[in-house]
Amino acid sequence: MADERPEFALIEWIRRRTVTRPEVLIGIGDDASVLQGPQGRNWITTVDVLTEGVHFDLAAASPELVGRKAMNANVSDIAAMAGEPVAAFIGIVLPRSRGRLLAEAIYAGLFDAARQWNVTLAGGDTNSWDGPLVISVTLMGLTTGQGAVTRSGGKPGDWLFVTGALGGSLMSGRHLTFTPRVNEAIALHRSVSLTSMLDISDGLASDLFHLLDESHVGARLDGDAVPIHEDVPSALPADVRLGRALNDGEDFELLFTVSPDDGVRLLRESPCGTPLTKIGELTNDRNVSLRVHGEWRTLARGGWTHSLDVG
Ligand code: ADP
Ligand code: MG
Repeated sequence: MADERPEFALIEWIRRRTVTRPEVLIGIGDDASVLQGPQGRNWITTVDVLTEGVHFDLAAASPELVGRKAMNANVSDIAAMAGEPVAAFIGIVLPRSRGRLLAEAIYAGLFDAARQWNVTLAGGDTNSWDGPLVISVTLMGLTTGQGAVTRSGGKPGDWLFVTGALGGSLMSGRHLTFTPRVNEAIALHRSVSLTSMLDISDGLASDLFHLLDESHVGARLDGDAVPIHEDVPSALPADVRLGRALNDGEDFELLFTVSPDDGVRLLRESPCGTPLTKIGELTNDRNVSLRVHGEWRTLARGGWTHSLDVG
C-alpha cells in the first residue's frame, strides 16, 4: 500500500538510487535528514521549495507572509524531529520585472521568522528569470541531547496524539501565520519518550500514512476525538467539519506517538502550553480505521470524504 502519487513515486525512485554514507544517520523519508554532529548532538537538515502560482499567490498573500511561511514550513520540519533550528540557506529565483523590491519584501518575512527562532541566514543563491517567483529554504538544526524523533519508531499499542486543532488553515490564512511547534516538541521530548512524530502539512488523513508506513503499523483513529479548529465554520454539518480537519492540511501541528503510560502522563500533566489530544492508537495489522459516531470504517489513504471514500 505504498503512496502512488507521482511526487512520492519520484521520491521513492530517488531514495533507492542514492548511495548511503555512515554520517547520514537518517536520509530520505522523514521530515528532515539527520547527519552526525558533535558530542552526542546531530545535524538535522530540511529543504522546502515554494513556487508562486502553486504554493502561494502574491495577489492573495503579501510577499512578507510568503517569506515568513517559507521559513516556518522548514522550522516545522525541524520541530517534527524535536530539533532546534540554527542556520538557513535561501535559494531564490526572482521574476525579472519585479526583482529587488519583491526580494526585500520576501526577506522582511524571512528575517521575521528567522529572528523569532534565532536562525542565522548563512548563505544562499540568487537568480532571475521570466517565470514566477521560486523560493527554496534549506534549514539546519541540531538535535537535543535526546536525539531526533523519526517517523519510524511507532509501536503497536502506542497512543496517537496531535497538538492544537486541525482544519480551515488555507481558508483563514492561518497557513501563512502559524507558529511552528518547536517549543512544544522540545518540551514533549524532554518529558516523555516520543516514539514517532511528524508535522501535518498535507492533512492528518494523508500524513498519518507516512508515519504508519515508516513505523510498519496500522491505526485506529477516533474521529469523534479529532480536535477541529475554530477556523472550520461551525455551521457546517459535523461530518463535513471532520472531513475538513482530516483533509485540509497546512495545519503544521505535530502528530506523535507515545506508550500508553506516557500517554496517561501527557493527559494528566500537559507539559507544553498547547493543548494535546489523544486521537487514536497504533495497531499490529496495517489497516487504518476511523470511528465516526461510534461506527468503525476504513480510512482510505490520502484522504477522507464523508460520502465517497468511506468503506
Ligand atoms: P515534508 O512534507 O515533511 O516536507 P516531503 O513529503 O516533502 O516531506 O518529503 C518526504 C521525504 O522525501 C523527505 O525525507 C525529503 O527530504 C525527501 N525528498 C523530497 N523531495 C526530494 C528530492 N527531490 N530529492 C531527494 N529527496 C527528496
Ligand atoms: Mg514534515
